[in-house]
Amino acid sequence: MDWDVAIIGGGPAGLSAALLLGRALRTVILIDNDRPRNAVVKASHGYMTRDGTAPGELRRLAREELRAYASVHLVSGTAADVSQADGEFLITLSDGSSYISRKLIIATGYADHLPDLPGLREAYGISVFPCPFCDGYEHRNTPMAVFGRGEQVYPFTKKLYNWSKDLALFTNGPSGLGARERSELSDRGIPLFEEPIQELASRNGMLHAVILRGGAAIPRTTGFIPDTGGAEASDLPERLLVKRDQTGKFDTGPHGKTSVDGMYIIGDAKNAFTGLIGAAGEGYEAGTILLRELAEEDWSRCR
Ligand SMILES: Cc1cc2nc3c(=O)[nH]c(=O)nc-3n(C[C@H](O)[C@H](O)[C@H](O)COP(=O)(O)OP(=O)(O)OC[C@H]3O[C@@H](n4cnc5c(N)ncnc54)[C@H](O)[C@@H]3O)c2cc1C
Repeated sequence: MDWDVAIIGGGPAGLSAALLLGRALRTVILIDNDRPRNAVVKASHGYMTRDGTAPGELRRLAREELRAYASVHLVSGTAADVSQADGEFLITLSDGSSYISRKLIIATGYADHLPDLPGLREAYGISVFPCPFCDGYEHRNTPMAVFGRGEQVYPFTKKLYNWSKDLALFTNGPSGLGARERSELSDRGIPLFEEPIQELASRNGMLHAVILRGGAAIPRTTGFIPDTGGAEASDLPERLLVKRDQTGKFDTGPHGKTSVDGMYIIGDAKNAFTGLIGAAGEGYEAGTILLRELAEEDWSRCR
């Protein structure tokens, strides 16, 4: 059987596209290997009506909803390859099975490769997080650490000041900050530690101090890390020769449309960090545009 749309990736982006297209009576195959990026956290926040829901539960509910649409088929597996011939996409899974579709949505997300900071992995997702909008509220007004350096860290520190005035910036080496930034930090009582970090000390994932190489222990109970490192979780767009833009992201136009006819990239696979409701929104948008493409093609064929 040929499918109208193949969606690779069953996070909020892919699930939302599947819902929209199922409701448009389209045949959809959604392939997912269930490795969500946010699986490390117990609760996800900011998704209207589901604030505080566990990441796995949010997906379970979405998959449950899709059961109502007989034209949507969910497959558990890893898409290992994609190619395009005669205007159709061929998706091959790592178990050797394959699917043919008229349109393709890549919603495979982003894979974090955390910096090599001793103790970070133990605390990541429990008391150290990447996104203040996601977890800042729960840790508001606590002694917070910001970990990182480079262009991102200073504006990120300013943003975090919204959630706690008790901030400390740890750059784990020379910060590269100029006199103005240093003075602004100092004016707000935000210490800057440029000494290498020896360890993030935590118990059961709960940060309690940042230990510097010289032995000083700086008490902190929450941490934020603006740059988690990493890359898109899959290189499938590259196999279809989708280029990258100047920022290194896959080159996409409005709604995630790529230079490959009929192929869209949405969610974290496109933006690195979209947020759950943003990813779901992109799935909805790409779904509506794809439906328009399919409907136009079918309309023309009927002549
Ligand atoms: C620690 C952490 C906490 C977060 N907390 C929040 C929060 O509270 N609120 C919020 O709004 N956002 C939060 N986010 C961000 C949010 O998780 C992402 O922005 C969102 O999940 C992106 O959705 P997506 O559908 O694009 O990708 P994902 O949710 O990552 O889904 C991608 C899916 O594609 C699958 N996949 C990848 N490659 C393949 C392949 N080759 N074949 C088949 N399947 C594949 C993966 O297994 C995964 O299931 C958090 C992120 C992190 C890292």
